[in-house]
Amino acid sequence: MPGERKKFLGILFDCCNVYRRIYINKEGNAYEGRCPYCQREVTVKIGPEGGSKRFFTAR
Ligand SMILES: [Zn+2]
Repeated sequence: MPGERKKFLGILFDCCNVYRRIYINKEGNAYEGRCPYCQREVTVKIGPEGGSKRFFTAR
């Protein structure tokens, strides 16, 4: 579905080996979230061709 942006992104928090969804920020240019265990923040910027890659690992 070209042009469609997902509201969330599946991400593996490598710090605690836990999988969570993080959500798009209000500017719509990145996904932002926090590890539920250690509270580490992660930001995944949305690139020009954004959204083809759906799963990320936070390191
Ligand atoms: Zn963590």
